[in-house]
Amino acid sequence: MSEQTGAPLSFPTEFYDAYIFDMDGTIYLGDELLPGVARMINELRDRNIPVRFLSNNPTKDPQQYVQKLTKLGLPTDISDIANTVVTMTKWLSENHPQAVVYPIAEEPLVRSLSEAGIRISEDPAEIDFVIASYDRTFEYKKLQIAFDAIWYHKRAKLIATNPDRYCPFPGGRGEPDCAAIIAAIEACTQTKCEMVIGKPNPQMLVEAIAGLDVDPEHCIMVGDRLGTDIQMAVRTGMVSAMPLTGDSTWRQAVALDKKDQPTFLLDRADRLIPQTVWDERGWNENNW
Ligand SMILES: [Mg+2]
Repeated sequence: MSEQTGAPLSFPTEFYDAYIFDMDGTIYLGDELLPGVARMINELRDRNIPVRFLSNNPTKDPQQYVQKLTKLGLPTDISDIANTVVTMTKWLSENHPQAVVYPIAEEPLVRSLSEAGIRISEDPAEIDFVIASYDRTFEYKKLQIAFDAIWYHKRAKLIATNPDRYCPFPGGRGEPDCAAIIAAIEACTQTKCEMVIGKPNPQMLVEAIAGLDVDPEHCIMVGDRLGTDIQMAVRTGMVSAMPLTGDSTWRQAVALDKKDQPTFLLDRADRLIPQTVWDERGWNENNW
């Protein structure tokens, strides 16, 4: 919150019916929970308020998030996690179950598609969808297959798991993400990516609260990125909060049109818990 210069941060004064959290930059950074996150999640769970975790990252199985959160001290059920591996697989299963796909992706997405009975092929002549993804095994051969399927055979459509430019790492570093793969394919085929399933696509939020008996208008989406987490909440009509512990800055948030700004700007995630509870529990900024 070093950049804050004018308008104050604003914090919720009441609880919501469900909390949907981005993970990277919101719950943890690298292998450490961010300040106050553990007591905030525990407080919500003690009150039996549903907590869901949402990620655009298609390089991990939901099971890997369960393991990560549990290792960080937040034991979590697999049903509380949705990422683009889950949403892409469901979207194809529900809308194009017969389609032949070519995922430019790492093992978790490929495995998930196979397990769902989606047919995968490297033959450009029969591919219906090229799926661009965050793929650290990306190579020229994959680009050629995508090119042939889309440009030469004029058959395949380009879809993608997530729109992120890079995945943030501790210390300000990062890794090129799905946007780079989309751009490579668009550049050589002169086509446009037709659908991106990850945040800010409202489908992600629909998936996150699936099975909960809650009104989206009484839920809150919490995330550190304006263009994905907050924009998705805006498109869904959901209240949103942005902790300044990750990617987007206070300055970027207040520069947006009012309608695109997060409802709440937080210096830390445990500000989601109303001040009255902080007082009851004797919480302060240093004793988390
Ligand atoms: Mg994030």
